[in-house]
Amino acid sequence: MRRSKFLACCVAAASVGPIAAYSQSRGQANAVLYEGGRLIIGDGTVIDSGAFVVENGRIGALGPKGAVTLPAGAARVDLTGKTVMPSMINAHVHIGYEGYTSWGAQNYTPQNVQNHLEREAFYGVGATVSVGSSPTDQSIRFQQDQQAGKLPPASRFLFMPGMAPPNGGPDAVLLKGTTALHAVYEVSTAQEARAAIQTMAAKRLKHVKIWVDDRRGTYPKMTPDVYNAVIDEAHKHQMLVHAHATTLPDQKAVVRAGADVVVHLVQGEKLDEEYLAILREKKPYWATVIGLGDRTEVCDNDPFVDQALPAAVVAAIRATSEARPLAPNCGPPSPNAATREATIANNFPKMIAAGVRLVLGTDAGIHAGHTFGSADHHELARWVQLGLTPSQAIVAATERPAELLGITDMGTLAVGKSADFLVLNANPLENIRNTRQIASVYLRGIMLDRNALLAAWKKAS
Ligand SMILES: [Zn+2]
Repeated sequence: MRRSKFLACCVAAASVGPIAAYSQSRGQANAVLYEGGRLIIGDGTVIDSGAFVVENGRIGALGPKGAVTLPAGAARVDLTGKTVMPSMINAHVHIGYEGYTSWGAQNYTPQNVQNHLEREAFYGVGATVSVGSSPTDQSIRFQQDQQAGKLPPASRFLFMPGMAPPNGGPDAVLLKGTTALHAVYEVSTAQEARAAIQTMAAKRLKHVKIWVDDRRGTYPKMTPDVYNAVIDEAHKHQMLVHAHATTLPDQKAVVRAGADVVVHLVQGEKLDEEYLAILREKKPYWATVIGLGDRTEVCDNDPFVDQALPAAVVAAIRATSEARPLAPNCGPPSPNAATREATIANNFPKMIAAGVRLVLGTDAGIHAGHTFGSADHHELARWVQLGLTPSQAIVAATERPAELLGITDMGTLAVGKSADFLVLNANPLENIRNTRQIASVYLRGIMLDRNALLAAWKKAS
């Protein structure tokens, strides 16, 4: 362990600050010392046998076992043989529409938003960002209630509005939901785009999503005039722009224009040197959402995935043997699956080598039957399959999305941070699939009652 700032000496100085406001209303007051576990810090470093103190929902001291002293009256939890990592942060989902017996705007209630956030939390995701599909004022109210401690423990809710041309933007399924809720700002001109950004900035929003996609010629596509205005105006207000773009020309265009986050991977063509040069210069964040295009893990009879889903949903997906392009199924792989995989295997490492800043995102909730929470683990495993080390994958699921989203009290195990972490029965640095060996999930220092969540989901289904 090389970083003395983690040691107990610095607790007093680090424990005051703006992060206190969130966690003080939660968390148990009595200190608890967790010791003996392997600590994956979230920044790429590891403490092989570590210890940390949790007090008032925050990490009060952290370091190698033996270097952290037991505060008076503190309880002690032995984590020998376990691995601890920060809770993950999912920077790209679509919360609220999935109802498991139906999908759509009629399901979009605060209770259903809470349900989806509980599902993310169950799987160790401590913060979840609904991107471009959650209605603004309702979402702000939900955030206020959550921050005030009025809601049961769940993944911390973040959201950003979307912008698209009228009748453009989200795919055919999601569009039905967002249109009914007026969740996407519809803009046709640069002037309208700037006005919309100003409205968002006045509500203190920090992120916005745009779609630059004509869906193979079937949709109106946001013009360069409009997205240049979005990006320029957003940056004037210290806002970041997340751009959906799925083709090489579109990704090139939005990154060159200054989009801060690119969403999706180019899976239909190989990247060229021109794009890689742009990436090396701009170094955007990148939410791959690979899993959205993958065969669902529901087909694999994996209890890790199945446990949180209603049995009827699992059965319906497994029973579907024909290909359904916009819904999970267990049909034969699509005819272009092998080509897609080869293109991804070519493009992914090139993006990483060019210096893009990978962040976790899953697109869960965009259509019926995609899985909140387990999809996050799928995404990590895919990255490792494509050449990342497990450590790099974990950083991209923890510290880096926290940095992107300005979540200053999450993302790493460090003094002063909110005590949001997973305890794992096996070491994911040896095998990334060990992120699925979840012994427990802690949010703001309190162990999540995962069995109670499972029981409630079973009852409802
Ligand atoms: Zn999406």
